[in-house]
Amino acid sequence: MTDVLHSVKEAQNLGGINLKIGSHENARTYRFYPIIGPFCGDNQGSHHCACIKTGKTFRPCRICRLDRVAIFDVDSEPHTRDSSITADIQKEAFNGLNQQLGNEQPTAHEKVALALCKSESIQPMLSHMLSMKTPFPGFSNHLLFPPDLLHTVCGGVLKNFIFWAFVIIIKVSEVDGNFKDSAATLDDLISAFPIQQSCPTKGLRFPKGISDFCKAASSYGISSKETSTSGLGGIDHQYIPSLVLQLLLAIGFDGDILPNTKNWESAKYPKLKKFGSLTDVVVSAGFIVLDLFYTLSRKEFTLGQLQELKELISTAQTHLHRLFTVKQLLIGSKKPYGGIKLHMLYHFVVAILYFGSPKVFDMIRFEKKHRVAAKIPFQKGKYRIFSYSHIFNVY
Ligand SMILES: [Zn+2]
Repeated sequence: MTDVLHSVKEAQNLGGINLKIGSHENARTYRFYPIIGPFCGDNQGSHHCACIKTGKTFRPCRICRLDRVAIFDVDSEPHTRDSSITADIQKEAFNGLNQQLGNEQPTAHEKVALALCKSESIQPMLSHMLSMKTPFPGFSNHLLFPPDLLHTVCGGVLKNFIFWAFVIIIKVSEVDGNFKDSAATLDDLISAFPIQQSCPTKGLRFPKGISDFCKAASSYGISSKETSTSGLGGIDHQYIPSLVLQLLLAIGFDGDILPNTKNWESAKYPKLKKFGSLTDVVVSAGFIVLDLFYTLSRKEFTLGQLQELKELISTAQTHLHRLFTVKQLLIGSKKPYGGIKLHMLYHFVVAILYFGSPKVFDMIRFEKKHRVAAKIPFQKGKYRIFSYSHIFNVY
């Protein structure tokens, strides 16, 4: 890593490098300013590399400074973390941490830096990536760890949608006798879905329907697993968009699987009325997240398309929050949405602007190797907590 950074730094110190582009007579010389390629990993890995704390921390986003209350408000305007301040604070805090580890008192400055790190949810570690010269003014080095867009959508948002929709269907079938067979009917419809049809995606065989994937919800009780998508862990990410489409077509608009009237069980759930019919809540959220997935799968984007994407993301966030709120109302939970994936959608447009189409930095194919390359060795190893050994491995 250090060698790579040195070579990039040398080219930067030279003021860029000249490269000829084109064939012989049409070749033109362009000046290139090398920057380090973006690191792209899953959210947790990217947080570690960006030295930002994960879990229930005060500022849970590695890219912006929103606190954990504002992050779930779709109207919040995020401010990007300033990498120059971060690098300075981290250096002081790192020295302070070393003093503490050596049972010595940190200096007053180091104490202030450690406290600042804590308030900003920053690990007091030194990161080469964060102290690198920025390629242009206004660029935050935290964007060197962009969200893995297609992975976030396939492995996160679409899975969330499937799970939340499934929980709503199960809950409705429990309280309303007219819908007691909804899950079984849905399984039959999905398993019998024709593979060859005129939809934009190829149909896939899900012989056991959807219940099989969501069994974590049905076998352990919805309330104990209300935010988990663990039952969907076994599905290959590339199948998820097909499953969502088949699920949506199976639910339909007729009110066979979910009620399509506004006043469903209004005595039992008076707050549900303002959200519209359950069919509308589920189906509109589903189609908009699918639209988001297909839009992100483009090979290139114009500035106009990016503006449209920004609006699409905002609409998708609103629909998903609506779906989540309805699910929580039905299961009687007051727990707010606690994940970071819906917020991460906000940073997609800037990530595409800087790094290009998400197809270029799609990590799904590497995710498949995760079990062999990382999970099994990690489980067998003795370093199961975030520690110096992990930091040495990363740097
Ligand atoms: Zn953010």
